[in-house]
Amino acid sequence: MIDWLKEQWCAWFHGGGRIKRDCYGRINWQCDRCGRWGEPVERHDEDRIIESVRAIEERARSYTRTNTDEKYNELLMAVGKKHPGETRHETALRYIRQAEIGEPNSARAIVHEMRND
Ligand SMILES: [Zn+2]
Repeated sequence: MIDWLKEQWCAWFHGGGRIKRDCYGRINWQCDRCGRWGEPVERHDEDRIIESVRAIEERARSYTRTNTDEKYNELLMAVGKKHPGETRHETALRYIRQAEIGEPNSARAIVHEMRND
């Protein structure tokens, strides 16, 4: 009864605490004022939560990788005819650079080079 009262007193009037690790290394909550501990997160629950978060992160990474691969392939496949002596990647890169900078020795390419000096 006295413990229950102490607990209720703390909950009502002590104004909060912090999440930290208790002496067993478990995630727990402790009242700033009286030092009362809350219910700990058991180690196996913490491990399961961490494992779930890692699995979600890995799926997100894998999704991003797949998405990036698909987009890159789409760019490569947009190269209708690859140039002799070039990979599809090199041809795509050259097309993009030409579009951005212009043909070598063109006015646009010269202006671009002057700006980057
Ligand atoms: Zn307290």
